[in-house]
Amino acid sequence: MEETRCIICGLEKDGIEVKEDFIINTIRWIKRNITRSEKGYRLVVCKECYPKYKKARDSYVRKELTYLAIGVLFAAMLVVFSGGHVLRAILYGAIIIVFMYLLAQLSYMPALKLPQIPQSAKVHHAASQAKTISRRAKKA
Ligand SMILES: [Zn+2]
Repeated sequence: MEETRCIICGLEKDGIEVKEDFIINTIRWIKRNITRSEKGYRLVVCKECYPKYKKARDSYVRKELTYLAIGVLFAAMLVVFSGGHVLRAILYGAIIIVFMYLLAQLSYMPALKLPQIPQSAKVHHAASQAKTISRRAKKA
């Protein structure tokens, strides 16, 4: 079995699996191809660390949105006050947005793979329950 690693306490514990996004894939790629230090751990958040994780994740999500909003606002202002140099203003605006985005990634906290119950499964469950009830009713 794969080794697991809690992303908060760093211990080998079982927990809720972390969703692999492009940031994690980028880190993995760098570790595999550049620093050659890929461990291949399955990343999780253990039960004990979950409250801490949740706080950090919420703060990260908030920060990312705020920073991006500020970046977009700045970019829009640059375009408005570009004085004819619209293309240059758009380029600078894009650089600001990317910079704000990267700044937000300093407090990066990945999402978790939470077990989601698909809508169809719920419907199916309800239908099978209804069948059981009608079967019971017939027997009675
Ligand atoms: Zn932990």
